[in-house]
Amino acid sequence: MKKISLGCIADDFTGATDLANNLVRAGMRVVQTIGVPDAPLGADVDAVVVALKSRTVPPEQAVTQSLAALGWLQAHGAQQIYFKYCSTFDSTARGNIGPVTEALMDALGTGFTVATPAFPDNQRTVFKGYLFVGDVLLSESGMQNHPLTPMVDANLVRVLQSQTQRRVGLIEHRVVARGEAAVRERMAQLQAEGVGVAIVDAVSNEDLLRLGPALRGMPLVTAGSGVAIGLPANFGITPSDQASRLPPAAGLQAVVSGSCSLATNRQVQDFIQRGHPAMAIDPLRMASGVDVAAEVLAWAGPLLADGPVLVYSTADSGDVKAVQGRLGVDEAGALVERTLAAVARGLVQRGVRQLVVAGGETSGACVQALDITQLQIGPQIDPGVPWCHSILPPRPALPVLAAPQGGVADLGAARRSSGATDDDGLHLALKSGNFGSDDFFTKAFTMLA
Ligand code: ADP
Repeated sequence: MKKISLGCIADDFTGATDLANNLVRAGMRVVQTIGVPDAPLGADVDAVVVALKSRTVPPEQAVTQSLAALGWLQAHGAQQIYFKYCSTFDSTARGNIGPVTEALMDALGTGFTVATPAFPDNQRTVFKGYLFVGDVLLSESGMQNHPLTPMVDANLVRVLQSQTQRRVGLIEHRVVARGEAAVRERMAQLQAEGVGVAIVDAVSNEDLLRLGPALRGMPLVTAGSGVAIGLPANFGITPSDQASRLPPAAGLQAVVSGSCSLATNRQVQDFIQRGHPAMAIDPLRMASGVDVAAEVLAWAGPLLADGPVLVYSTADSGDVKAVQGRLGVDEAGALVERTLAAVARGLVQRGVRQLVVAGGETSGACVQALDITQLQIGPQIDPGVPWCHSILPPRPALPVLAAPQGGVADLGAARRSSGATDDDGLHLALKSGNFGSDDFFTKAFTMLA
Protein backbone atom coordinates (compact mmCIF):
# COMPACT_ATOMS: atom_id res chain seq x y z
CA MET A 1 0.00 0.00 0.00
CA LYS A 2 1.11 3.54 -0.79
CA LYS A 3 2.27 5.59 2.21
CA ILE A 4 -0.21 8.23 3.32
CA SER A 5 0.81 11.89 3.21
CA LEU A 6 -1.44 13.36 5.90
CA GLY A 7 -2.56 11.49 9.01
CA CYS A 8 -5.54 13.03 10.80
CA ILE A 9 -7.02 12.44 14.25
CA ALA A 10 -10.53 13.86 14.75
CA ASP A 11 -12.15 14.18 18.18
CA ASP A 12 -15.65 13.35 16.91
CA PHE A 13 -17.48 11.73 14.13
CA THR A 14 -19.15 14.31 11.94
CA GLY A 15 -16.12 16.54 12.55
CA ALA A 16 -13.95 13.86 10.96
CA THR A 17 -16.20 13.87 7.90
CA ASP A 18 -16.08 17.67 7.78
CA LEU A 19 -12.26 17.57 7.70
CA ALA A 20 -12.19 14.77 5.13
CA ASN A 21 -14.55 16.82 2.96
CA ASN A 22 -12.18 19.79 2.88
CA LEU A 23 -9.20 17.58 2.04
CA VAL A 24 -11.11 15.96 -0.83
CA ARG A 25 -12.11 19.37 -2.19
CA ALA A 26 -8.42 20.29 -2.22
CA GLY A 27 -7.66 17.15 -4.26
CA MET A 28 -6.73 14.47 -1.72
CA ARG A 29 -8.20 10.97 -1.87
CA VAL A 30 -9.39 10.32 1.67
CA VAL A 31 -10.65 7.43 3.77
CA GLN A 32 -12.25 8.05 7.17
CA THR A 33 -11.96 5.21 9.64
CA ILE A 34 -14.22 4.65 12.61
CA GLY A 35 -11.75 4.43 15.45
CA VAL A 36 -8.22 3.11 14.96
CA PRO A 37 -8.38 0.62 12.07
CA ASP A 38 -7.80 -3.05 12.73
CA ALA A 39 -8.04 -4.04 9.06
CA PRO A 40 -6.10 -2.85 6.01
CA LEU A 41 -7.45 0.16 4.14
CA GLY A 42 -9.77 -0.59 1.25
CA ALA A 43 -8.04 1.85 -1.12
CA ASP A 44 -4.82 3.75 -1.82
CA VAL A 45 -5.30 7.24 -0.40
CA ASP A 46 -3.43 10.47 0.31
CA ALA A 47 -4.95 11.04 3.75
CA VAL A 48 -6.62 9.00 6.47
CA VAL A 49 -8.90 10.60 9.05
CA VAL A 50 -9.24 8.49 12.18
CA ALA A 51 -12.57 9.40 13.80
CA LEU A 52 -12.49 9.15 17.59
CA LYS A 53 -15.15 10.00 20.14
CA SER A 54 -12.74 11.81 22.43
CA ARG A 55 -14.15 15.33 22.76
CA THR A 56 -15.79 15.00 26.15
CA VAL A 57 -14.31 11.83 27.64
CA PRO A 58 -11.87 12.27 30.57
CA PRO A 59 -8.58 13.81 29.28
CA GLU A 60 -6.53 10.67 30.08
CA GLN A 61 -8.80 8.59 27.82
CA ALA A 62 -8.67 11.19 25.05
CA VAL A 63 -4.87 11.11 25.21
CA THR A 64 -4.73 7.30 25.11
CA GLN A 65 -7.08 7.12 22.12
CA SER A 66 -5.24 9.87 20.26
CA LEU A 67 -1.83 8.26 20.81
CA ALA A 68 -3.17 4.94 19.51
CA ALA A 69 -4.38 6.73 16.38
CA LEU A 70 -1.01 8.46 16.04
CA GLY A 71 0.81 5.11 16.26
CA TRP A 72 -1.31 3.66 13.44
CA LEU A 73 -0.87 6.74 11.24
CA GLN A 74 2.89 6.76 11.77
CA ALA A 75 3.09 3.05 10.95
CA HIS A 76 1.39 3.88 7.64
CA GLY A 77 3.91 6.53 6.74
CA ALA A 78 2.05 9.74 7.61
CA GLN A 79 4.41 12.66 6.99
CA GLN A 80 2.32 15.21 8.91
CA ILE A 81 -0.25 14.79 11.69
CA TYR A 82 -3.43 16.92 11.86
CA PHE A 83 -5.38 17.00 15.15
CA LYS A 84 -8.92 18.12 14.25
CA TYR A 85 -11.37 19.63 16.75
CA CYS A 86 -14.58 21.58 16.43
CA SER A 87 -14.70 24.99 14.74
CA THR A 88 -16.27 26.29 17.96
CA PHE A 89 -13.26 24.97 19.93
CA ASP A 90 -15.57 22.70 21.95
CA SER A 91 -13.78 21.68 25.11
CA THR A 92 -14.34 21.34 28.83
CA ALA A 93 -12.41 23.11 31.56
CA ARG A 94 -9.99 20.13 31.66
CA GLY A 95 -9.59 19.77 27.92
CA ASN A 96 -9.39 17.90 25.74
CA ILE A 97 -7.77 20.11 23.12
CA GLY A 98 -4.83 21.11 25.35
CA PRO A 99 -3.96 17.70 26.83
CA VAL A 100 -4.23 15.90 23.47
CA THR A 101 -2.13 18.56 21.72
CA GLU A 102 0.60 18.24 24.34
CA ALA A 103 0.60 14.44 24.26
CA LEU A 104 0.90 14.46 20.46
CA MET A 105 3.72 17.03 20.62
CA ASP A 106 5.60 14.89 23.14
CA ALA A 107 5.13 11.72 21.08
CA LEU A 108 6.26 13.48 17.91
CA GLY A 109 9.18 15.15 19.69
CA THR A 110 8.15 18.61 18.51
CA GLY A 111 8.30 21.83 20.52
CA PHE A 112 5.93 23.96 18.46
CA THR A 113 2.53 23.77 16.80
CA VAL A 114 -0.36 25.99 15.74
CA ALA A 115 -4.02 26.00 16.76
CA THR A 116 -6.91 27.57 14.91
CA PRO A 117 -10.55 26.56 14.60
CA ALA A 118 -11.18 29.12 11.80
CA PHE A 119 -13.63 27.82 9.18
CA PRO A 120 -14.79 30.87 7.17
CA ASP A 121 -17.07 28.77 4.90
CA ASN A 122 -19.17 28.15 8.02
CA GLN A 123 -18.73 31.66 9.49
CA ARG A 124 -16.14 30.70 12.09
CA THR A 125 -13.38 33.31 12.09
CA VAL A 126 -10.55 34.17 14.47
CA PHE A 127 -9.30 37.75 14.94
CA LYS A 128 -6.81 38.89 17.57
CA GLY A 129 -7.24 35.46 19.09
CA TYR A 130 -11.02 35.88 19.54
CA LEU A 131 -13.33 33.34 17.93
CA PHE A 132 -16.41 34.67 16.16
CA VAL A 133 -19.43 32.62 15.11
CA GLY A 134 -21.05 34.70 12.39
CA ASP A 135 -21.24 38.27 13.72
CA VAL A 136 -20.92 37.47 17.43
CA LEU A 137 -18.27 36.24 19.82
CA LEU A 138 -18.20 32.50 20.56
CA SER A 139 -19.31 33.26 24.13
CA GLU A 140 -22.48 34.99 22.83
CA SER A 141 -23.26 32.49 20.07
CA GLY A 142 -25.35 30.05 22.08
CA MET A 143 -22.27 27.90 22.71
CA GLN A 144 -22.08 29.41 26.22
CA ASN A 145 -25.11 27.20 27.02
CA HIS A 146 -23.87 23.97 25.48
CA PRO A 147 -24.74 21.11 27.85
CA LEU A 148 -21.33 19.38 27.64
CA THR A 149 -18.82 21.97 26.44
CA PRO A 150 -20.05 25.45 27.43
CA MET A 151 -17.76 28.03 25.81
CA VAL A 152 -17.94 31.11 28.02
CA ASP A 153 -14.70 32.79 26.86
CA ALA A 154 -14.06 33.68 23.20
CA ASN A 155 -10.35 34.43 23.76
CA LEU A 156 -8.66 31.28 22.50
CA VAL A 157 -5.24 32.15 23.92
CA ARG A 158 -6.80 32.20 27.39
CA VAL A 159 -8.95 29.12 26.79
CA LEU A 160 -6.06 27.00 25.50
CA GLN A 161 -3.64 28.33 28.12
CA SER A 162 -6.01 27.07 30.83
CA GLN A 163 -5.74 23.54 29.37
CA THR A 164 -2.00 23.27 28.73
CA GLN A 165 1.36 23.49 30.49
CA ARG A 166 3.06 24.94 27.42
CA ARG A 167 2.96 28.67 26.77
CA VAL A 168 0.30 29.78 24.30
CA GLY A 169 0.93 32.70 21.92
CA LEU A 170 -0.76 34.40 18.98
CA ILE A 171 0.00 34.86 15.28
CA GLU A 172 -2.07 37.93 14.47
CA HIS A 173 -4.00 38.59 11.31
CA ARG A 174 -1.64 41.32 10.11
CA VAL A 175 1.13 38.68 10.05
CA VAL A 176 -1.01 36.04 8.31
CA ALA A 177 -2.03 38.64 5.71
CA ARG A 178 1.64 39.06 4.72
CA GLY A 179 1.99 35.39 3.82
CA GLU A 180 4.35 32.47 4.35
CA ALA A 181 7.63 34.27 5.09
CA ALA A 182 6.02 36.57 7.67
CA VAL A 183 4.26 33.64 9.38
CA ARG A 184 7.47 31.61 9.51
CA GLU A 185 9.35 34.60 10.95
CA ARG A 186 6.67 35.07 13.63
CA MET A 187 6.71 31.34 14.47
CA ALA A 188 10.50 31.46 14.98
CA GLN A 189 10.13 34.55 17.18
CA LEU A 190 7.42 32.90 19.32
CA GLN A 191 9.51 29.75 19.74
CA ALA A 192 12.46 31.85 20.84
CA GLU A 193 10.18 33.41 23.47
CA GLY A 194 9.28 29.95 24.77
CA VAL A 195 5.83 29.64 23.19
CA GLY A 196 4.78 26.07 22.39
CA VAL A 197 1.39 26.57 20.76
CA ALA A 198 0.29 29.57 18.68
CA ILE A 199 -3.33 30.47 18.04
CA VAL A 200 -3.55 31.72 14.44
CA ASP A 201 -5.94 34.43 13.24
CA ALA A 202 -7.81 33.76 9.99
CA VAL A 203 -10.94 35.51 8.71
CA SER A 204 -11.13 34.21 5.13
CA ASN A 205 -10.21 31.24 2.98
CA GLU A 206 -7.48 33.42 1.49
CA ASP A 207 -5.92 33.65 4.96
CA LEU A 208 -6.01 29.86 5.29
CA LEU A 209 -4.48 29.42 1.83
CA ARG A 210 -1.70 31.87 2.81
CA LEU A 211 -1.14 29.97 6.05
CA GLY A 212 -0.88 26.57 4.32
CA PRO A 213 2.64 26.90 2.87
CA ALA A 214 3.97 28.10 6.24
CA LEU A 215 2.85 24.79 7.77
CA ARG A 216 4.82 22.66 5.29
CA GLY A 217 7.08 20.31 7.25
CA MET A 218 5.48 21.04 10.65
CA PRO A 219 5.13 17.63 12.35
CA LEU A 220 1.81 18.50 14.04
CA VAL A 221 -0.97 20.89 13.00
CA THR A 222 -4.01 21.36 15.25
CA ALA A 223 -7.12 23.03 13.85
CA GLY A 224 -10.78 22.88 12.89
CA SER A 225 -11.41 21.69 9.36
CA GLY A 226 -10.64 25.03 7.67
CA VAL A 227 -6.83 24.83 7.69
CA ALA A 228 -7.12 21.65 5.62
CA ILE A 229 -7.83 23.62 2.44
CA GLY A 230 -4.26 24.92 2.43
CA LEU A 231 -2.33 21.70 3.12
CA PRO A 232 -2.72 19.34 0.12
CA ALA A 233 -0.71 21.73 -2.11
CA ASN A 234 2.27 21.16 0.20
CA PHE A 235 2.26 17.54 -0.99
CA GLY A 236 2.02 18.54 -4.68
CA ILE A 237 -1.70 17.77 -4.80
CA THR A 238 -4.13 20.01 -6.69
CA PRO A 239 -7.97 19.98 -6.77
CA SER A 240 -9.44 17.32 -9.06
CA ASP A 241 -12.83 15.69 -9.57
CA GLN A 242 -11.12 12.31 -9.36
CA ALA A 243 -10.58 12.73 -5.60
CA SER A 244 -14.32 12.77 -4.83
CA ARG A 245 -15.38 10.02 -7.23
CA LEU A 246 -17.61 7.38 -5.57
CA PRO A 247 -19.20 4.26 -7.04
CA PRO A 248 -22.63 4.90 -8.65
CA ALA A 249 -25.55 5.03 -6.20
CA ALA A 250 -28.27 2.41 -6.23
CA GLY A 251 -31.07 1.23 -3.95
CA LEU A 252 -33.71 2.92 -1.81
CA GLN A 253 -33.45 6.28 -0.03
CA ALA A 254 -34.09 7.36 3.57
CA VAL A 255 -33.32 10.08 6.13
CA VAL A 256 -32.89 9.38 9.85
CA SER A 257 -32.77 12.50 12.01
CA GLY A 258 -31.97 12.66 15.73
CA SER A 259 -30.65 16.20 15.68
CA CYS A 260 -32.70 18.91 17.41
CA SER A 261 -30.56 21.79 16.17
CA LEU A 262 -32.29 24.77 14.59
CA ALA A 263 -31.01 23.97 11.08
CA THR A 264 -32.25 20.37 11.31
CA ASN A 265 -35.69 21.51 12.52
CA ARG A 266 -35.94 23.65 9.38
CA GLN A 267 -34.71 20.80 7.16
CA VAL A 268 -37.30 18.39 8.57
CA GLN A 269 -40.08 20.92 7.95
CA ASP A 270 -38.86 21.56 4.42
CA PHE A 271 -38.81 17.85 3.60
CA ILE A 272 -42.34 17.35 4.96
CA GLN A 273 -43.67 20.41 3.10
CA ARG A 274 -42.38 18.91 -0.15
CA GLY A 275 -44.82 16.04 0.42
CA HIS A 276 -42.38 13.25 1.32
CA PRO A 277 -43.54 10.63 3.83
CA ALA A 278 -42.26 11.32 7.35
CA MET A 279 -42.75 9.68 10.73
CA ALA A 280 -42.00 11.37 14.05
CA ILE A 281 -40.94 9.15 16.93
CA ASP A 282 -41.75 9.88 20.55
CA PRO A 283 -39.11 9.24 23.25
CA LEU A 284 -41.79 8.79 25.92
CA ARG A 285 -43.31 5.85 24.00
CA MET A 286 -39.81 4.30 23.76
CA ALA A 287 -39.43 4.75 27.51
CA SER A 288 -42.76 3.01 28.12
CA GLY A 289 -41.39 -0.09 26.42
CA VAL A 290 -43.03 0.18 22.97
CA ASP A 291 -40.85 -1.22 20.15
CA VAL A 292 -40.86 2.06 18.23
CA ALA A 293 -38.19 0.89 15.75
CA ALA A 294 -40.41 -2.04 14.73
CA GLU A 295 -43.37 0.32 14.23
CA VAL A 296 -41.28 2.63 12.07
CA LEU A 297 -39.98 -0.19 9.90
CA ALA A 298 -43.48 -1.58 9.37
CA TRP A 299 -44.60 1.93 8.28
CA ALA A 300 -41.59 2.57 6.04
CA GLY A 301 -41.47 -0.82 4.30
CA PRO A 302 -44.24 -0.28 1.74
CA LEU A 303 -43.33 3.39 1.14
CA LEU A 304 -39.67 3.01 0.30
CA ALA A 305 -40.20 1.96 -3.30
CA ASP A 306 -41.87 5.33 -4.08
CA GLY A 307 -39.03 7.61 -2.90
CA PRO A 308 -37.23 8.81 0.20
CA VAL A 309 -38.81 8.57 3.65
CA LEU A 310 -37.89 10.49 6.80
CA VAL A 311 -37.83 9.14 10.37
CA TYR A 312 -37.20 11.82 12.97
CA SER A 313 -37.08 12.57 16.68
CA THR A 314 -36.19 16.16 15.81
CA ALA A 315 -38.15 18.54 18.04
CA ASP A 316 -37.93 22.13 19.24
CA SER A 317 -36.09 23.00 22.43
CA GLY A 318 -39.29 23.20 24.52
CA ASP A 319 -40.33 19.65 23.63
CA VAL A 320 -36.79 18.34 24.15
CA LYS A 321 -36.58 19.95 27.61
CA ALA A 322 -39.95 18.45 28.57
CA VAL A 323 -38.77 14.96 27.57
CA GLN A 324 -35.44 15.45 29.30
CA GLY A 325 -37.30 16.57 32.44
CA ARG A 326 -39.23 13.29 32.45
CA LEU A 327 -36.42 10.90 31.46
CA GLY A 328 -33.16 12.71 32.25
CA VAL A 329 -30.87 14.17 29.56
CA ASP A 330 -28.64 11.11 29.17
CA GLU A 331 -31.41 8.55 29.27
CA ALA A 332 -33.51 10.45 26.70
CA GLY A 333 -30.51 10.83 24.39
CA ALA A 334 -29.48 7.18 24.69
CA LEU A 335 -33.03 5.90 24.10
CA VAL A 336 -33.47 7.97 20.96
CA GLU A 337 -30.00 7.07 19.64
CA ARG A 338 -30.63 3.34 20.18
CA THR A 339 -33.98 3.50 18.44
CA LEU A 340 -32.75 5.49 15.45
CA ALA A 341 -29.74 3.18 15.11
CA ALA A 342 -32.08 0.17 15.00
CA VAL A 343 -34.19 2.01 12.42
CA ALA A 344 -31.12 2.74 10.27
CA ARG A 345 -30.10 -0.89 10.39
CA GLY A 346 -33.58 -2.11 9.57
CA LEU A 347 -33.83 0.30 6.63
CA VAL A 348 -30.55 -0.95 5.19
CA GLN A 349 -31.75 -4.52 5.61
CA ARG A 350 -34.80 -3.51 3.56
CA GLY A 351 -32.67 -2.27 0.68
CA VAL A 352 -31.89 1.36 1.57
CA ARG A 353 -28.52 2.18 0.01
CA GLN A 354 -28.70 5.99 0.15
CA LEU A 355 -28.98 7.11 3.75
CA VAL A 356 -28.79 10.61 5.25
CA VAL A 357 -28.29 10.79 9.03
CA ALA A 358 -28.74 14.12 10.85
CA GLY A 359 -26.97 14.66 14.16
CA GLY A 360 -23.43 14.03 15.35
CA GLU A 361 -24.23 11.60 18.16
CA THR A 362 -26.99 10.07 16.08
CA SER A 363 -24.53 9.49 13.23
CA GLY A 364 -22.12 7.75 15.59
CA ALA A 365 -24.86 5.44 16.84
CA CYS A 366 -26.08 4.61 13.31
CA VAL A 367 -22.61 3.93 11.90
CA GLN A 368 -21.86 1.63 14.82
CA ALA A 369 -25.14 -0.24 14.39
CA LEU A 370 -24.33 -0.71 10.70
CA ASP A 371 -20.86 -2.10 11.59
CA ILE A 372 -19.22 0.42 9.28
CA THR A 373 -15.48 0.76 9.82
CA GLN A 374 -14.29 2.76 6.80
CA LEU A 375 -15.83 5.48 4.67
CA GLN A 376 -14.52 6.73 1.36
CA ILE A 377 -15.20 10.46 1.08
CA GLY A 378 -17.00 11.83 -1.97
CA PRO A 379 -18.43 15.14 -3.20
CA GLN A 380 -19.66 17.92 -0.92
CA ILE A 381 -23.41 18.41 -0.50
CA ASP A 382 -23.10 21.56 1.63
CA PRO A 383 -20.08 22.97 3.52
CA GLY A 384 -18.92 20.34 6.00
CA VAL A 385 -21.10 17.50 4.66
CA PRO A 386 -19.99 15.18 1.85
CA TRP A 387 -21.54 12.02 0.50
CA CYS A 388 -19.52 9.02 1.66
CA HIS A 389 -19.45 5.43 0.54
CA SER A 390 -19.04 2.37 2.70
CA ILE A 391 -18.71 -1.20 1.65
CA LEU A 392 -21.36 -2.96 3.71
CA PRO A 393 -20.01 -5.61 6.03
CA PRO A 394 -20.57 -9.23 5.01
CA ARG A 395 -24.17 -10.26 5.75
CA PRO A 396 -23.41 -12.29 8.93
CA ALA A 397 -21.88 -9.18 10.50
CA LEU A 398 -25.22 -7.37 10.15
CA PRO A 399 -27.57 -9.47 12.26
CA VAL A 400 -31.14 -9.44 11.05
CA LEU A 401 -33.51 -7.54 13.34
CA ALA A 402 -36.65 -9.15 14.60
CA ALA A 403 -39.00 -8.30 11.76
CA PRO A 404 -42.03 -6.29 12.89
CA GLN A 405 -44.36 -8.07 10.48
CA GLY A 406 -43.55 -11.17 8.52
CA GLY A 407 -40.18 -12.83 8.85
CA VAL A 408 -36.62 -12.72 7.73
CA ALA A 409 -37.62 -14.01 4.28
CA ASP A 410 -39.62 -10.80 3.75
CA LEU A 411 -36.53 -8.71 4.36
CA GLY A 412 -34.68 -10.63 1.66
CA ALA A 413 -37.58 -10.04 -0.71
CA ALA A 414 -37.66 -6.32 0.10
CA ARG A 415 -33.95 -6.08 -0.52
CA ARG A 416 -34.22 -7.92 -3.83
CA SER A 417 -37.13 -5.76 -5.00
CA SER A 418 -35.07 -2.63 -4.24
CA GLY A 419 -32.52 -3.81 -6.79
CA ALA A 420 -29.77 -3.37 -4.21
CA THR A 421 -27.20 -5.96 -3.33
CA ASP A 422 -24.62 -5.87 -0.55
CA ASP A 423 -21.99 -5.46 -3.25
CA ASP A 424 -23.32 -1.99 -4.03
CA GLY A 425 -22.20 -0.70 -0.66
CA LEU A 426 -24.00 2.11 1.14
CA HIS A 427 -23.95 5.81 0.28
CA LEU A 428 -24.08 7.72 3.53
CA ALA A 429 -24.28 11.44 4.40
CA LEU A 430 -23.58 12.30 8.05
CA LYS A 431 -24.85 15.80 8.81
CA SER A 432 -23.76 17.63 11.89
CA GLY A 433 -26.68 19.44 13.55
CA ASN A 434 -26.27 23.01 12.42
CA PHE A 435 -24.88 22.31 8.95
CA GLY A 436 -26.78 22.37 5.68
CA SER A 437 -29.35 24.50 3.86
CA ASP A 438 -33.09 24.13 4.53
CA ASP A 439 -33.55 21.85 1.48
CA PHE A 440 -30.55 19.72 2.46
CA PHE A 441 -32.34 16.35 2.47
CA THR A 442 -33.84 16.63 -1.01
CA LYS A 443 -30.70 18.30 -2.35
CA ALA A 444 -28.60 15.38 -1.12
CA PHE A 445 -30.60 12.77 -3.06
CA THR A 446 -30.84 14.94 -6.18
CA MET A 447 -27.09 15.30 -6.16
CA LEU A 448 -26.51 11.56 -5.93
CA ALA A 449 -28.85 10.91 -8.83
P1 ADP B 1 -26.61 17.58 16.86
O1 ADP B 1 -25.55 17.28 15.84
O2 ADP B 1 -27.72 18.46 16.35
O3 ADP B 1 -26.05 18.04 18.19
P2 ADP B 1 -26.84 14.94 17.99
O4 ADP B 1 -27.34 13.71 17.34
O5 ADP B 1 -25.35 15.06 18.19
O6 ADP B 1 -27.38 16.18 17.14
O7 ADP B 1 -27.48 15.14 19.42
C1 ADP B 1 -28.85 15.14 19.63
C2 ADP B 1 -29.10 14.38 20.93
O8 ADP B 1 -30.45 14.63 21.31
C3 ADP B 1 -28.96 12.87 20.73
O9 ADP B 1 -28.41 12.29 21.89
C4 ADP B 1 -30.41 12.44 20.55
O10 ADP B 1 -30.62 11.09 20.89
C5 ADP B 1 -31.14 13.37 21.47
N1 ADP B 1 -32.53 13.60 21.06
C6 ADP B 1 -33.00 13.58 19.80
N2 ADP B 1 -34.32 13.84 19.77
C7 ADP B 1 -34.71 14.02 21.05
C8 ADP B 1 -35.95 14.33 21.66
N3 ADP B 1 -37.07 14.50 20.93
N4 ADP B 1 -35.99 14.45 23.00
C9 ADP B 1 -34.85 14.30 23.72
N5 ADP B 1 -33.65 14.01 23.22
C10 ADP B 1 -33.56 13.87 21.88
